[in-house]
Amino acid sequence: MAILKAENIKKSFGANEVLKGIDLSVEKGETVAVIGPSGSGKSTFLRCLNKLETIDGGSIEFDGEIIAENGKYKKDKELRPIISKMGMVFQQFNLFPHMNVLDNLTLGPIKLLKKSKSEAEKNALELLDRVGLKDRADAYPSQLSGGQKQRVAIVRALCMNPDVMLFDEPTSALDPEMVGEVLDVMKSLAEGGMTMVVVTHEMRFAREVGKRVIFMADGAIVEEGTPSEIFDNPKNERTKAFLEKVL
Ligand code: ADP
Ligand code: MG
Repeated sequence: MAILKAENIKKSFGANEVLKGIDLSVEKGETVAVIGPSGSGKSTFLRCLNKLETIDGGSIEFDGEIIAENGKYKKDKELRPIISKMGMVFQQFNLFPHMNVLDNLTLGPIKLLKKSKSEAEKNALELLDRVGLKDRADAYPSQLSGGQKQRVAIVRALCMNPDVMLFDEPTSALDPEMVGEVLDVMKSLAEGGMTMVVVTHEMRFAREVGKRVIFMADGAIVEEGTPSEIFDNPKNERTKAFLEKVL
C-alpha cells in the first residue's frame, strides 16, 4: 500500500519548467533513492511534497489524506498536521545556533505536538542515544562537528514522530570523513522500517539501501528500477552517461 503518492507533479519558476509531470508512489517501509544531475529538479520535487514550494499541477496524497489535488493544496490549517508527519533533512542542518541540542530537539514537539517538556526531553534523549549523541544534549551547534550536527538534525525530524523521512543530499555539505556516520544512521533507520525518500549523490548508499532507485533529469523521471537494474544494467542513454560520470 502506498503511503505517499505524487501524480503528474508540475512546477515552473517563471518560464523555467522544472518539474514536467513527476509520478512517484512510495510504499510503507520502502526506501527510495533519487539520483540525477544537478538542476534536474530533485530538491524542488521533495520541497513540493511538504509545500515548501507550491506545485502548478498534479496531486499529492500522504497517509490516506489529500495534500494537493489538481495543483491546489489543502488549506494550511488542515495541511499542517498532515505535513508535520513528513520529516525533512536538508543539506544544511538549520539548527538554532542559540539553543542547545536538547532545546533544538524539543522545540517542535512542545510547540506543535503539545508534548510536555519532560516527555519531549525523554523522547529526544532516547533518540539521541540511538545516534550515539546522548552525551551532547547540552552542547550548542557550534560545538559540534558537521556529522554530529547532521545526526542531530535527523533526530530533530524523528522527534516529530514522522511517517516518512525526506532527505535532500544530507551528506553533501560534510567533510568526507563524516559522511559515513550520517549514512550509518540513515541505514539503520531504513532497516528499522522507516519510509524514506533520499536524494543523494552517494551512489553506494543508493545501491545498498535503496529498494528502488529513481534517475531524474531535466524535470522528469527518466528511469527507475531496482539498484541492480539501474546500476548494473541501465537502459536509458542519459542514465548511462550520468553513471559513467559519477561511478
Ligand atoms: P536539483 O536539486 O536536482 O539540483 P533543483 O530542484 O534545486 O534541482 O533545481 C531545479 C531547477 O529549478 C534549477 O534550474 C534551479 O535553478 C531552479 N530553481 C530551484 N529553486 C528555484 C527558485 N526558488 N527560484 C527559481 N528557480 C529555482
Ligand atoms: Mg538539490
